Amino acid sequence: MPSSSVRQRRSSLSTSLPVDRARVLDTLVNNLEGMAYRCLNDSRWSMLFVSQGCLELTGYGPEDLVNDGCVSWEELTFPEDRMRVRGEIAHAIAAGKRFAVQYRIVTSAGQVKWVIERGIAVADETGQPVIEGFIEDVSQRHMTLEALEHAELRYRHIFEHASEGIFQTTRDGRYLAANPALAKLYGYAAPDELIADLSDIERRLYVKESRRQDFRRLMEAHGEVINFESEVYRRDGSKIWISENAHIVHGANGEFICYEGTVQDITERRSYQEQLERQANHDLLTGLPNRNLLGDRLQQAISRAERLGYFLALVFIDLDNFKFINDSLGHAAGDELLVEVAARLRACLRTSDTVARQGGDEFVLVLNDHYRVNSIISLLERVLVEVGRPVNLSGRDFQVGASLGVALYPQDGLDAESLLKHADVAMYAAKDRGRNNFQFFTRELNHMADERLNLETAMRTGIDQDEFMVYFQPKVDHRRRIVGVEALARWNNPDFGMVAPDRFIPIAEETGLIHPLTDVIMRKAFVAAASWAPTHGHPIQIAVNLSPKLFLSEEIVARVASLLRDAGLPPERVELEITESVFLGDSERAVRILSEFKDLGVGLAMDDFGTGYSSLSYLRRFPLDIIKIDRSLVTGLEHEEEVAMIARAVISLGQSLRKTVVAEGVENQAQFDFLRYQGCDEFQGYLISRPIPAADFVELLMRTGGQL
Ligand code: C2E
Ligand code: CA
Ligand code: CA
Repeated sequence: MPSSSVRQRRSSLSTSLPVDRARVLDTLVNNLEGMAYRCLNDSRWSMLFVSQGCLELTGYGPEDLVNDGCVSWEELTFPEDRMRVRGEIAHAIAAGKRFAVQYRIVTSAGQVKWVIERGIAVADETGQPVIEGFIEDVSQRHMTLEALEHAELRYRHIFEHASEGIFQTTRDGRYLAANPALAKLYGYAAPDELIADLSDIERRLYVKESRRQDFRRLMEAHGEVINFESEVYRRDGSKIWISENAHIVHGANGEFICYEGTVQDITERRSYQEQLERQANHDLLTGLPNRNLLGDRLQQAISRAERLGYFLALVFIDLDNFKFINDSLGHAAGDELLVEVAARLRACLRTSDTVARQGGDEFVLVLNDHYRVNSIISLLERVLVEVGRPVNLSGRDFQVGASLGVALYPQDGLDAESLLKHADVAMYAAKDRGRNNFQFFTRELNHMADERLNLETAMRTGIDQDEFMVYFQPKVDHRRRIVGVEALARWNNPDFGMVAPDRFIPIAEETGLIHPLTDVIMRKAFVAAASWAPTHGHPIQIAVNLSPKLFLSEEIVARVASLLRDAGLPPERVELEITESVFLGDSERAVRILSEFKDLGVGLAMDDFGTGYSSLSYLRRFPLDIIKIDRSLVTGLEHEEEVAMIARAVISLGQSLRKTVVAEGVENQAQFDFLRYQGCDEFQGYLISRPIPAADFVELLMRTGGQL
């Protein structure tokens, strides 16, 4: 009888223990959730003892189980699990170890439960081998685990099959995990390959290295990044655009674990967007900015001119014969012509200028940073010449002219609208005037342009009549001691009065008069300089300007040498100022002439540095002794941080290349102080002295002893 056996067991416990302890143990065992047992290691797991918990666990009472009263444990065990359970228990017993085995049982009600059985083989009080242990219900835990496993599986599925790239990375830019989509996106066959190869995200992935820093900064500040767009390299070196969404993963205690996020390829959208932007802002045929972008550029140019106090010129261009060509040769030829004109216009301008297509055969130029109307006039003349060159269309040469109308900021209008309107008005005036010319909106300026023609004739006689003279503008060192002068041409004409070199030098260059003119200027300058006594124990250097056209002409070196001999002036006292346009064409020839001048012994200065094509590489490549920082940079110092930066860069580069750095156009003490502080060597400008005639300069020297 099972019940008697249980009683027997209880009495045996109670005999060896004090009553209290037996009762406590009894209560404990019988109130455990789960079932304590003792059984035989036989084919039925015959139970010798089971605790009360067996009822809840199996639906059978102790009496049903003990001595296999109604069912054996073997029978309770889920059939498919029986072999495994037996195997695991046997294995543990053989090794003399405890066992823990999970399996299913079937309750009296037919319900399947997961249990865990923990036990050990021992000898009972009589020395008989038995198994004692504890079996508890783990169905709940099992279900949760299973659910977890399923979830994990589901997430894995998402991770593996997502079309977006998914990653986990460390702060310092290594991959912890990547999914196949990410691998594919970056050009790898599998995630492992990506993780192994792409070990330095900052340097290997982002085209712009600073992007990773940006990413980290955002992460640390906000804990996430949203739609973070960057250009990245794929494995084969090609570039794509991606968008990242990511966040920081924290541990239970708030500690940093990793960055985690997704990556999307947005290359197509990006290029589409760029294309749209280009289309919105550029003319499809010529690729030039369209009306839209012109508005922006003009607005910027106005603010810049306002800030810096330069002229801004807005030029309306209308082609003269376009309609004729378009009608007679067809649209294709018309298009070809427009493309060609666009290219020529672009070639005339500096990069800071804008040429836009306004529509039809109308173009607009925005010319920045001119501080003299004359330089605008020279540029427009070049535009007329360029546009006027024959264009080959369908095998025949055609000549197209242009009518140009010019409005200047600030005198012809303070805003974009009025400038455009006035340039348009001026353009019609140019058409009325018989085409292929330009007209300013302001009448007096047209007068100035017309004057050029008269000037040319007057110059020829002026040279013969000795109307040209030289003014001298002192250059001082950082203690304001005179170290040299620049010779500047002046023309005193009975009809025009004093004519400034800006007005006659360009004409002289175009007409070839620059040759005889330069002879006159140099002779006068050299003769004067030869007569000056040294100041502070140093002879006064004399700088003369050499037109680029002349510089590249034949025998210029021999000419200068002979003028020096005639004046009795040592070549060492002379500095020739040339502009960088000299290097734009045949630079080998330029280098050859430079070294011939060097051999002669004269110094060489790069004039107007910091404007136009300014390239610091010229300074390295060509044997120049002096750099003259352009007046526009000096003027801009106080107004624009960018200008100050360029000036600083030029000065420090000049210093490192051991060149003398001269600042010209120094008009006030603040500019002088800034430039001196930056390490400029010499200073020239109205602050120190205006250009003055030779006699005045000699008088100045005597009066001041060369200390200004
Ligand atoms: P440049 O060589 O850059 O000469 C400096 C010009 O800046 C001179 O104008 C001078 O008077 C002016 N200037 C000097 N200090 C200041 C200042 O503090 N503020 C302002 N606003 N202007 C200042 P200039 O004499 O009218 O000469 C103009 C240009 O004509 C020269 O520019 C140079 O390119 C050319 N030039 C002058 N003489 C000759 C010459 O004999 N031969 C050649 N080929 N060109 C010459
Ligand atoms: Ca000069
Ligand atoms: Ca200059």
